[in-house]
Amino acid sequence: MIVQLNTYTSLEYKYLDMDQLSAALTGDPDLAAIPAEARPKFMQSLFVCTGSDFTSFFSGLGKATFMRFAYQHNTFINANSEQFPGSLVHTTADTKEKGFLAFIRLVGTAYYSKHRTCFPFESPRAFLNSFGSGIDSRMQHKAWLECICNAIWERTEFEDELPPSVEALWRHWLRTCWVSDYWSKAIENCCNVLDVTCFGWKVNDGSLEIDWEDQSNIAKVRDRVKLLLRGCSCKKGCDTRRCSCLKDGKKCGPGCRCCNCQNSPAVHDAETHDIEEEEEEDNEASRQTCQNVMVIDEEDRYSTDQESDMNSLATDDSDIESV
Ligand SMILES: [Zn+2]
Ligand SMILES: [Zn+2]
Repeated sequence: MIVQLNTYTSLEYKYLDMDQLSAALTGDPDLAAIPAEARPKFMQSLFVCTGSDFTSFFSGLGKATFMRFAYQHNTFINANSEQFPGSLVHTTADTKEKGFLAFIRLVGTAYYSKHRTCFPFESPRAFLNSFGSGIDSRMQHKAWLECICNAIWERTEFEDELPPSVEALWRHWLRTCWVSDYWSKAIENCCNVLDVTCFGWKVNDGSLEIDWEDQSNIAKVRDRVKLLLRGCSCKKGCDTRRCSCLKDGKKCGPGCRCCNCQNSPAVHDAETHDIEEEEEEDNEASRQTCQNVMVIDEEDRYSTDQESDMNSLATDDSDIESV
């Protein structure tokens, strides 16, 4: 069996001999953790879970990167031992829980390896080991992934550079299992596909949507965004822990309505001193300005909220269309 490969840089057609690929996989010593006959299935599963027609991609982590880590850490990710249950080949109704643990190890390993200098451990396996074996495997894997997320949080500029939550990954893994099942039936003339609403999708107003995340996690993110938009409204310079931004270890930002702020990244020592001296004289005037700023901000805040809602809807739509 051969498959034609799309080549965008050349007019020359290229073909892949699937029998040869399958033989190469079954003889590959790097995949020793997986039974030889299951290795083609492992490749398929790896392909689906790292982004395909029905599953989303991981921002900043392409297929080649995932494949490299999946090979380098194969005995860890696909261990299917008592200590590390499951392998990526476990996608059936009976085995998908175990397969999910291997998927968490794959995702955690990818983020760990990308930011390896954040971690004082010799490998992602040693790090997971440090969470002890007495606790439930899923809890152990969850705690491990959350620690990876927290450790790289300070290094990243955007939320999408962080690993998804375990709850979001579970939904992603369910979609992977659905695709695996669907593809396994591709050579049947007539087949029944699994109920998508049990595999990471949901029906809303008669249309099918991706069930991205647990509602409680969505609520947490909304609360956080609200807090960031609100900022502080200190009138005495944001230099004590009464300032919510300072207390949070953050500089005052565009959402703040503070006056004479000493916690802004732009404040210069000399300027601050001048402002303090003039403060008494201008007290009344600045209070007036404060009120004006508060009124303007109030309006701005609503338009920002609306905009961000619209943006998130637009993003959701485009994601659904591309699925
Ligand atoms: Zn403040
Ligand atoms: Zn401030």
